[in-house]
Amino acid sequence: MLKVILISHTPNPEKIVASAAKMCYSNSGAENILDKLDEEKTTKFLEHLTSLGHESPLEHITFTFAVEGGSRSLLAQLTRHRMASYSVKSQRYVEEADFEFVTPPEIAENADAKALYEETMAKIGEAYEKLTEVLYQKHVLTMDEKSAKKKAIEDARFVLPNACETKLIMTFNARSLLNFFQHRCCNRAQWEIQALADAILWKVREVAPTIFAKAGPKCVSGACPEGAMSCGKRKQMQERYLAK
Ligand SMILES: Cc1cc2nc3c(=O)[nH]c(=O)nc-3n(C[C@H](O)[C@H](O)[C@H](O)COP(=O)(O)OP(=O)(O)OC[C@H]3O[C@@H](n4cnc5c(N)ncnc54)[C@H](O)[C@@H]3O)c2cc1C
Repeated sequence: MLKVILISHTPNPEKIVASAAKMCYSNSGAENILDKLDEEKTTKFLEHLTSLGHESPLEHITFTFAVEGGSRSLLAQLTRHRMASYSVKSQRYVEEADFEFVTPPEIAENADAKALYEETMAKIGEAYEKLTEVLYQKHVLTMDEKSAKKKAIEDARFVLPNACETKLIMTFNARSLLNFFQHRCCNRAQWEIQALADAILWKVREVAPTIFAKAGPKCVSGACPEGAMSCGKRKQMQERYLAK
């Protein structure tokens, strides 16, 4: 099961973004930039930024998440978001004997599909272990046991599936997160990354409610850009994503 933990974020995130906006639009100096930035002023500066589409001040605050229970398929989609930093469990260094795997809901709900899926995962697991052993027996003739094991698993992993579960730490700034939500909260995104994007959005909205008040797919605050491929559910998406 997908687990997302917000393990750290910039303290006073909204105040920091507001101070950047204040620096742009007022005569305040460095020493008094945080003065008088109460909740009301902070919200005013944030709303001003949003109305102008001035997004670079959002880059001053970051959010770090620990994620587990997602598939390697999710990982491939997630890491297309280049404006973020990732540290991922390595299949070169960590053996995947008895690997955990993610089952898509459509497969889980279909008895025949589920049986075939689980049988395939079991076969892959066996192949991985056999390959590891065969390769290990060769490598250990010329190197120490630890190095031989590492060299064996780094090639054996080539048989592992997209379904294989992974774990990672990632850090996004707020501007990049807003872009991530526009792409991945959209109904056109795949279920797994949409679930991840939703989980992240609910967490960051708790700590930076004004910044993320209108976050979500593009149709929440403007027209749907998907043309003929639109899901046609703009109203439901607005109900789901616009902060109450
Ligand atoms: C529904 C859906 C379907 C998709 N299908 C495919 C697919 O079939 N094949 C595929 O390859 N990808 C696919 N993608 C991935 C998509 O093309 C993007 O790579 C991904 O969403 C990351 O978005 P991004 O580039 O905006 O994010 P980031 O990499 O985080 O970039 C953020 C923003 O920074 C700017 N930026 C970053 N790098 C550059 C650069 N080099 N030059 C100029 N500006 C830059 C852009 O404004 C960009 O929007 C799909 C995504 C979605 C949501």
